[in-house]
Formats: sequence, structure tokens, C-alpha cells
Amino acid sequence: MKRIIIIGAGASGLFCAIKCKELMNNVDVIVLEANKQPLKKLLATGNGRCNLSNKSLSFDQYNGEVTKPIKEIISQFDDQKEFLEEGLLTKWMGNLLYPASEQAKSVAEVLLDRAHRLGIAVLTEQTVISLKENNQGYKIICEQASYDADFVILAMGSQAGLLSTENDRQKIIGNLLPMVPFRPSLTQMYTSPVLKSLKGVRVKAIVKLTDQDALLSCEKGELLFTDYGVSGICVMQLSRFYKPGCHLEIDMMPSLEEEELEAILIKSPLTRPLMGLVNTKIEQYLFKNKEPVRTLKNLKLSITGLRDYKTSQVMQGGVVVRALDDNLESKRHPGLFVIGELLNVTGNCGGYNLHFAFASAKHVANAIEGIINA
Ligand SMILES: Cc1cc2nc3c(=O)[nH]c(=O)nc-3n(C[C@H](O)[C@H](O)[C@H](O)COP(=O)(O)OP(=O)(O)OC[C@H]3O[C@@H](n4cnc5c(N)ncnc54)[C@H](O)[C@@H]3O)c2cc1C
Repeated sequence: MKRIIIIGAGASGLFCAIKCKELMNNVDVIVLEANKQPLKKLLATGNGRCNLSNKSLSFDQYNGEVTKPIKEIISQFDDQKEFLEEGLLTKWMGNLLYPASEQAKSVAEVLLDRAHRLGIAVLTEQTVISLKENNQGYKIICEQASYDADFVILAMGSQAGLLSTENDRQKIIGNLLPMVPFRPSLTQMYTSPVLKSLKGVRVKAIVKLTDQDALLSCEKGELLFTDYGVSGICVMQLSRFYKPGCHLEIDMMPSLEEEELEAILIKSPLTRPLMGLVNTKIEQYLFKNKEPVRTLKNLKLSITGLRDYKTSQVMQGGVVVRALDDNLESKRHPGLFVIGELLNVTGNCGGYNLHFAFASAKHVANAIEGIINA
């Protein structure tokens, strides 16, 4: 009997194990997980509600190597149908797909129940430290034991959010596959200056990320001032395009043009006219400013860096996609596959990352079934 070992019991690893067992009853499937419990990160997704996917799966929502096969994997996976087959009802909330229960916990319970019923061994507290290819296939060495496998699926995700093991993925993979170094994404930004007096203020803004006047990206949404810089959904989305030396240009009053604002202020009966228009902390900050309206419409902040992996949702970088074939199998090491966030494909906020984790997992299960039953 062929043995498939999946390293990592996150969303991609566990879903892949389920799909492998559903497609092939003549295989032994083992999932090795370093944490004490599987699916730790999944439980924290979508603020505990688990945003599974997005109605608009456009490829520009992904960074990294979005090659033709990756595009096909992304567009061919039908989340609603797939989850229903596993017993999980889902629902759309706007463009975002959630479990009908609106609980990440129910997604985790469904996946674990399916894995259990299919006889998949999910072994926790098994930290893989290295992987070696030999004549028989692969030897997987854990801190606690070692395992032999005919097929190995790397589903180790990233250390983002501190919910996954922090170990160095490249060290485990060794020279079997090249990796683009990880860097935080979907995360907060350090700024200069830090506007500490605005700490805690949220504004609905249009925020541009620029690099020497070139527009890198623009988002409309909530921005939060913090004691280190800025946060908020639009800042996290812009962090995908971060480059050293870039800037933010923040329009804190997008509903009014500069001239309209000037006209309102001139007619204002107030001693401090901005008092009636903006948050009091912003008003106090602008009162000391020589060009209050210009600053309100175009506050410029230098970005001095991104916050680290502990507070980021994902990591950009990962295993080089071009080192894999269309099945996501290593071109040089047959039987070695990579899925999920460990690949150099990273999605935006809005369900894109889980969609890719599940879609790539199913794709690899199909590929292995094709090889075994050829
Ligand atoms: C707070 C937060 C909220 C998020 N919300 C959303 C959301 O709503 N929607 C969305 O699409 N995405 C969301 N994401 C991103 C999404 O959760 C991840 O992209 C996705 O879970 C990746 O799945 P994965 O299986 O590839 O990797 P992971 O979930 O990282 O799982 C990898 C697993 O491998 C294990 N592992 C690693 N190394 C080893 C080793 N050496 N030995 C054994 N086991 C190992 C880890 O412990 C982990 O359990 C969020 C992320 C965070 C941090």
C-alpha cells in the first residue's frame, strides 16, 4: 500500500488528506502536525468566522508567481460545492463566503470529523525537522520519530500570526526545493512621523501607497492611527505592495474637494472651524498645522517598515512555483508536492488565501490519484 505523508495539519494539509482518502481507498494517509492541535490558524480566521472564499476571484488579488497552472487551480475550485460534499453548508455575505454557522470552529469540526471517519492518522506534536529523498521515496525526520513515505505533500504554511510553528521552512526542505524568503504581508505599517496624538482614531479614507511619486496601489477604507504607525484593513491590503522607501498619502476627507472644504471653513461661525467637521483629535492635530486643509486631504507619511510575522495574516514568498510542474510536484524530485501558503502565491484579505489553500490541496490529491491509479 502506498503511503502519503502530509506535513502540516492546517487548512491545506487536512483538506488534502481528506481528498486523497476520498479518491483512493488503497493508500495510507498520515498528517504530521507540530502543534498540539490541528487547524489552529483556521480557527482564528475571519475573526473566528472563517472567510472561506470570495465571489470575485480575480488574479490581481494574488501576489507571487501566479502562473497559468496556478490561475487554473484558483478558478476551477468551487468552494460551495466542495464544502457541501464534505457536509458543510456555506453562505455568501456580500462577496465573502462563510460557513452558514459563521463559525470557524464548525469548519474545523467538519474537517476533523471527515478525517477521522476516513481513517486518516493526524499525528500532533510531530515537528518535522528534515526531509530526505532515498531509493524508496522519502524519509521524514521528526524530533520524536521518523517516517517513510512514497509521496510527501508539504503543507507547512507560514509562521504568520504566530498560529503555526515558527520553524525555518527552508531548513526543513533543505536543497530539495528553492524558496523565495518569506516577508510579512496583510500587516500594519511603521511610519515616520508616528502621529501618537492620533492614536486610536479611525478614519474612512482613500489611501495611496507611492514610491517616488509612482502609485504602487490605492485603497478606500478604514485606517487606524496607532502608537507605532498605521493599521486598518486598507493599510493591511496596501502592505502587499510595500517597497523600502515608500510613502502613504492619506485623504482623510474623501467626500469633499479641497476647494469645497476651504469654502465651508471660510463661512464657518466657529472659532476653530474644523471642530465641526472631523474627529476632535484630528482637529487638534490640524490646528497646529500651517496648511490644515491640504494636510487633511493629503497627509504624507513615510513607511519605515512592516510589522513582523507575529501580527501579519500571511507571508509573501515561499516555495518557487517554477520549480514545480502543473501538478505542483517537484520537477526534480518525483513524489514531492507543495500546497497552500507555503507556495510563493499569496492572496489579499477577503478569503483568497483559504480559497487557494483548499484549491491547491484538491489539485494535488487529484494529481496523486492520477499517478497511483495510472
Ligand atoms: C489571524 C488570521 C486571520 C486570517 N483570516 C483569513 C480569512 O478569513 N480568510 C482567508 O482566506 N485567509 C485568512 N488568513 C490566512 C489563512 O489562514 C492562511 O493563508 C491559511 O490558513 C494557510 O493554510 P495552510 O494550510 O497553507 O497553512 P497553515 O494554516 O499555516 O498551516 C500549516 C500547518 O503546518 C504546521 N507545520 C509547520 N511546520 C511544521 C513542521 N516542521 N512539522 C509539522 N508541522 C508543521 C503548522 O503548525 C500549521 O498547523 C488569516 C490568517 C491569520 C493569521
